[in-house]
Amino acid sequence: NKVDNPYAGARGYVNPEWKAKAESVSGGSRVSNNPTAVWIDRIAAIEGTDGSSSNGSMGVRDHLDRALTQGAGYIQFVIYNLPGRDCAALASNGELGPSELPRYKTAYIDPIAAIQADPKYAALRIINIVEIDSLPNLVTNVGSAPGATAACDTMKANGGYVQGIGYALNKLGALANTYNYVDAAHHGWIGWDSNFAPTADIMLQAAQASGNVKNVHGFITNTANYSALRETFFTVGTNVGGTSVRQSKWVDWNQYVDELSFAQAFRTKLVSIGFDSGIGMLIDTSRNGWGGSARPTAASTSTNVDTFVNESRIDRRIHAGNWCNQSGAGLGERPTAAPAAGIDAYVWVKPPGESDGSSTLIPNDEGKGFDRMCDPTYTGNARNGNSMSGALAGAPISGAWFAAQFSQLMANAYPAL
Ligand code: BGC
Repeated sequence: NKVDNPYAGARGYVNPEWKAKAESVSGGSRVSNNPTAVWIDRIAAIEGTDGSSSNGSMGVRDHLDRALTQGAGYIQFVIYNLPGRDCAALASNGELGPSELPRYKTAYIDPIAAIQADPKYAALRIINIVEIDSLPNLVTNVGSAPGATAACDTMKANGGYVQGIGYALNKLGALANTYNYVDAAHHGWIGWDSNFAPTADIMLQAAQASGNVKNVHGFITNTANYSALRETFFTVGTNVGGTSVRQSKWVDWNQYVDELSFAQAFRTKLVSIGFDSGIGMLIDTSRNGWGGSARPTAASTSTNVDTFVNESRIDRRIHAGNWCNQSGAGLGERPTAAPAAGIDAYVWVKPPGESDGSSTLIPNDEGKGFDRMCDPTYTGNARNGNSMSGALAGAPISGAWFAAQFSQLMANAYPAL
């Protein structure tokens, strides 16, 4: 039978391929023994790839075998290969076209489920993080929304995401030792009333498509993103000179100002609409530390709400919609089980040092396009309030090793290394 919190009392699998990359950078051995997730970002990654930028030669079985040798208690995989993947961006579009749901099922999910079902892995807790950014895109980037894309409209209309995730949850959730966590974006994406309940509803649709909402063990927020865990110097209820921080340009009427408050509230919402009351949340803290010299050390004394928020906030991005290789970011909380009420763990799902996307066009045969949100000179679009991208220069394609970013993440770690 499944345990309530698969992270509790268990040591996480350390991916030797990530560990080697981390240790190739000066100082990397300070953090290289942390568990990070293994991304199965294409069909070929199931067997292990040669010559892909993001994975090495180890396949799913190799990682599971190594987890046994390590004596690990849990291992984390990211299931990331939906048809028409990453419909609102260009950096991670992937290999399957919008109508390739049948191939997703038989060539991707079925083989992964078959390997995970091998009885020799029965004592390992196998955690599957399911399909980053996909369902939230169907809420915020469709129809008449300012950031809508044709690709997201297509994936909403053809059911590829909802049915694909339903299939994955069913197959991968069937075992006694597997744990599904569905991606639920982050506060700077769905924290507004207009997005919050509709996102919970589409999560429920996907879970119902799996045949049983109990196939969902929990949800993850902030995957591969940069939203601060806690804004120490203000809450959503703070007023400045009689004005709510919600009216500041940064918060922009959001109901949440940080990930912890958002994840806890979203959990409550999900239970209220029909998810199991035992669900737990994960928060990806791999790159949301925001330490270093730019980190505020006290609340601002300004009585102007914008100045107050800008001087006080831990999250140093130009805009909370910026997502690519953010300049100034640092490693966040190290992976920790049961750190707060309703939270199963802080996790490092995005392996720190792996790029979010190339800062200029780099031709490749891995399905990776060039998204200008990764270009430091880009002045933005409707999804980031037409702001500068805040991205680091010199980045390789998504998933590829970006040593300069990893150095900066270590330098700006919070807690500091
Ligand atoms: C990329 C994947 C990669 C993952 C982890 C994603 O943005 O598209 O190829 O495995 O990041 O770095």
